[in-house]
Amino acid sequence: MCATCGCGVDEVRVDGETGEYLHVHEDGTVHAHGHEHEHGHSHDEPHTHTIDLETAVLAKNDELAAANRLWMAERGIAAVNLMSSPGAGKTSLLERTIKENGATRSISVVEGDQETHYDAERIRAAGARAVQINTGSGCHLDATMVRRGLDTLEPADGDLVVLENVGNLVCPALFDLGETKKVVIVSITEGDDKPLKYPHMFAAADLVVVNKTDLLPYVDFDVDKCEKDARSLNSRLEWLPMSVRTGEGLDGWYGWLGEL
Ligand code: MG
Repeated sequence: MCATCGCGVDEVRVDGETGEYLHVHEDGTVHAHGHEHEHGHSHDEPHTHTIDLETAVLAKNDELAAANRLWMAERGIAAVNLMSSPGAGKTSLLERTIKENGATRSISVVEGDQETHYDAERIRAAGARAVQINTGSGCHLDATMVRRGLDTLEPADGDLVVLENVGNLVCPALFDLGETKKVVIVSITEGDDKPLKYPHMFAAADLVVVNKTDLLPYVDFDVDKCEKDARSLNSRLEWLPMSVRTGEGLDGWYGWLGEL
């Protein structure tokens, strides 16, 4: 279960009408309680159970991510954590990059999706090695999954490893995987309000790719506003408009990869 986001089998939902927290248990039973309740404690006592668990989960993940980072650094391997909403173009960007030899080094890919092997098959068809991680009810890759992926892929010294995260602008921002850089793709069909709605993701990014620019004539998307909002959260981020479909902006992407 993802303790941070509550996306596992012991699900947490918020009742839209009352604002009460609803716990959905594995057996399907649901009960409501205020936020200040912990099992085995008085309802009057404020609880820190959820926050403690979240801190512990993230601390453990950070430890494993540091081990991944060291393992890759010792081998001269660069890793990109590629994140976006579903359908923004993560896999399409990788397919084109692999086919055009856009990176100056060999690429292998850890694919994260809740279910199916579709994306790993696409990456292999494009000509690179890939391993698929299915996260089931989980909504992000974590450092343990990446460790498993690296053990399976066995990237050569100096390779580029791309960690294509589960399509989601929320939880992947919280989980360090040991990557060298974090890249966020926002596609113009999603709307230009994403940086302010999902600030953690944009605050954590090293590079924001704005994909599907070929559709700008047909969509109300203010690229300048989106960039201004993203930079208000993160002054160090790099910004790269692109169309994976037409190839516009890909030179900038290949140049960025070349400097990793
Ligand atoms: Mg994908």
